[in-house]
Amino acid sequence: MKALGSGELLNAWEQGLNKPLLTRILILLAAAYPEIQADALAKLSIGQRDLRLLQLRTHLFGQRLLNTAVCPQCGERIEWESNTRDFIRETEENSTIADEFNLNADNYALRFRLPNSLDITTVINTSPDNHNAEKMQQHLLSRCLLNAEQSGKSCDFDQLPDSVIRKLSQQVEQLDSCADIRILLNCSECSHSWTVLFDIAGFLWTEVNEWAQQILQTVYKLASGYGWSEQEILRLSPVRRQLYLGMLG
Ligand SMILES: [Zn+2]
Repeated sequence: MKALGSGELLNAWEQGLNKPLLTRILILLAAAYPEIQADALAKLSIGQRDLRLLQLRTHLFGQRLLNTAVCPQCGERIEWESNTRDFIRETEENSTIADEFNLNADNYALRFRLPNSLDITTVINTSPDNHNAEKMQQHLLSRCLLNAEQSGKSCDFDQLPDSVIRKLSQQVEQLDSCADIRILLNCSECSHSWTVLFDIAGFLWTEVNEWAQQILQTVYKLASGYGWSEQEILRLSPVRRQLYLGMLG
């Protein structure tokens, strides 16, 4: 990963405006990981992609994660804090970096790969029934199935019994466990505990968006006050920008 300057991050943010979240995230990653081809970034498994997003988040805004959640039992809004380093370590320990996997279930032998950003985009855009979560999950799995045989005879995804599809789904989830970051929360009001899914993609984009709004304001104020160009202002360190901003009163 390369160190992203303010100008480069602002460019990536601008490119991502009016694009779906999945595209925005790939634009951010492409800016931060120029050594990886765009096509290869889109083909990273979701867990591997999110690992890079966590590393990018740590580089851009630090490792402390602050967020809020609403208790499903009493409706109290609670604040939770976590650390990107913990998720990164967990992901690195649990991830299996391989392109293909095998599963033998009942009389079926399957060869499959893990879902990636391209699969998810395609499923969202082409599923005729795109509010039926189960159908979309099946569509996703069918894209990831590379080969299937029943007692040595090749067969299609549609011919697999539900029990085998369920096992395939569990296996995918287990192998790419980092695709779902779960956080255990406790309500201070009613002591209820529950888990929430932490979506680093949406979280990071929201932060980048807030950062961009703020930096544009800063550029405007410094340019108005001192007559400097946008490029000159973006090249300043954040500390100096803040100090000059303060001197404007
Ligand atoms: Zn509660």
